[in-house]
Amino acid sequence: MTEQAPPLVRVRGLEKRFGDYRALAGIDLDIARGERLVVCGPSGSGKSTLAYCLNGLEPHDAGRILIDGMPLDEELGTAHELRRSIGMVFQSFNLFPHLSVLENCTLAPRLVLRLGEQEAHRRAMENLERVGIADQAAKRPDRLSGGQQQRVAIARALCMRPRLMLFDEPTSALDPEMVKEVLDVMIELAQSGMTMVCITHEMGFARAAADRIVFMDQGRIIREAPPKTFFGDQQDPRIRRFLADIT
Ligand code: ADP
Ligand code: MG
Repeated sequence: MTEQAPPLVRVRGLEKRFGDYRALAGIDLDIARGERLVVCGPSGSGKSTLAYCLNGLEPHDAGRILIDGMPLDEELGTAHELRRSIGMVFQSFNLFPHLSVLENCTLAPRLVLRLGEQEAHRRAMENLERVGIADQAAKRPDRLSGGQQQRVAIARALCMRPRLMLFDEPTSALDPEMVKEVLDVMIELAQSGMTMVCITHEMGFARAAADRIVFMDQGRIIREAPPKTFFGDQQDPRIRRFLADIT
């Protein structure tokens, strides 16, 4: 028997409480290297909380998260170390408003990775090129459309050369005509072999780019399946209702 490569992410028995409320009520999840996961489920089901726990932005209360075999643990001091290798893209872009697009992309590589100015610049332009926005490099984010800003946010995350990219509803704050330009960048990224966790209700994207769809409800994963199976044979009324509501 050949030994299987360990997953990039291993989650076991993950729990997160806010006061008495269990936002995550025991999550088990493995994510393989290069895997593209779509996470969906009703509002309040714990999707964002899961993403925040996965990159150490929120400490968890019970269970284990291993990234590349290393436990993510505030007490061990590994959360900080691991966070820099996980890219995160939020619904609300979160660009630094007082910096140019280029500076948004060079800041963390310079401060955190200690790259020299030239190397940080080169890497920034390469990634801005990749998301089709290199010509806007000198502008402030507020001069850009929402779709452009979100593409900058993706480029900025890529400049850290992350092992994993987390997307939390990256298109849900966008005007409809801008959704596609962001999804196209995400599809290209998916095809490039990046390991991705995408919280999204864009089921077209899920069909096109996901290896697996994870459906959450009330802090638990209640179904995980490849898109074909997920959409093809939907017995669970909670999932049927969700799919009916978003389409
Ligand atoms: P989703 O992203 O699936 O909509 P969230 O992960 O944001 O859900 O939230 C899951 C549950 O945890 C919700 O009931 C939400 O109100 C609660 N919650 C999330 N963040 C906090 C917080 N910082 N303080 C208190 N409750 C929170
Ligand atoms: Mg959310």
